[in-house]
Amino acid sequence: MKKVLVTGAGGFIGSHLVKRLKEEGCWVRGTDVKLPEFSETCADEFEVLDARRRDDCLQATRNVDTVFSLAANMGGIGWTHEAPAAIMHDNLLISTNTLEACRLNGVENIFYSSSACVYPNYLQETNDSPGLKENHVFPADPDMEYGWEKLTAEILHQTYKKSYGLNIKIARFHNIYGPLGTYDGGREKSPAAICRKISKIQGQEGDIEVWGDGTQARSYCYVDDCVEGCLRIMRSNIDCPVNMGSDQMVTINELIDIVANIADKKIYCKYDLTKPVGPKGRNSDNTLIKELLGWAPSISLEEGLTETYKWINDQVHKS
Ligand code: NAD
Repeated sequence: MKKVLVTGAGGFIGSHLVKRLKEEGCWVRGTDVKLPEFSETCADEFEVLDARRRDDCLQATRNVDTVFSLAANMGGIGWTHEAPAAIMHDNLLISTNTLEACRLNGVENIFYSSSACVYPNYLQETNDSPGLKENHVFPADPDMEYGWEKLTAEILHQTYKKSYGLNIKIARFHNIYGPLGTYDGGREKSPAAICRKISKIQGQEGDIEVWGDGTQARSYCYVDDCVEGCLRIMRSNIDCPVNMGSDQMVTINELIDIVANIADKKIYCKYDLTKPVGPKGRNSDNTLIKELLGWAPSISLEEGLTETYKWINDQVHKS
């Protein structure tokens, strides 16, 4: 990993990854359809390119040995429900064109960011569902179009490994959160939305709207752990998809309690049962990643949310 391309470098995880790769001494090109929203890029070169376009992908992947494919048209659960066609159309084009351009340009190493959404709904029906293991993915019944698209893109990447011998790594991200992530506007995920809502409460107590009844459960992985894991996977001999998630599952109500405690505010929840909530319980089983890497995400939710709340609170109150 000497000359590296990060696609989606204008986004949340991409911004953190570029910074870390620079710290590791790599030369980095970032590409995205937009410039980073919340910080200057740390990349040596940043090009605004659309990965749905084959020519743009050929330009992006020139003269690099390694590609981290993070570009995706994605958002939180509300937006994902509203834009199924864009999710399928844009992301299948992004994966197909990026991968083919990597092949044509002789890229040696490719990392694909998949998602826990590939796992079947039937294994996530209660909020104490056991952690999801990598081999639970079939028989397939992923959550919404986003999950089907990620699973299809995983298979696409595996065919490039089979047919062309490309060195491909795949990680299934489980709810990554942290500073520099979208926190407003409809595309934000639950930790960011809860931090924003609590931050906006004037004084020491108030109400927030919560989607569903607050008993749905997830695990949340802090972005520093995610970036560390991506680099470790890329430097390993792993040749199957692996989970990149925390195995500390909490309900939304518990998540709210942690943020309320950090903010030192008393929070009353107003539950909106008409809003989408996704599977009832989703957790990462980290047995495989520990076996293969001797490592797994370990930053606690309390620690990660403290940093995230601090950053979102600054953003909310700076204007
Ligand atoms: P993000 O939305 O912050 O970053 C994605 C970036 O891709 C954005 O900056 C966006 O502008 C860019 N993009 C969209 N369409 C593009 C196009 N046509 N050409 C070039 N760039 C384009 O999201 P993120 O949280 O940083 O996610 C990074 C990757 O990780 C994505 O592939 C996502 O599906 C995957 N992932 C993230 C999570 C999570 O919890 N954040 C969970 C599972 C998987």
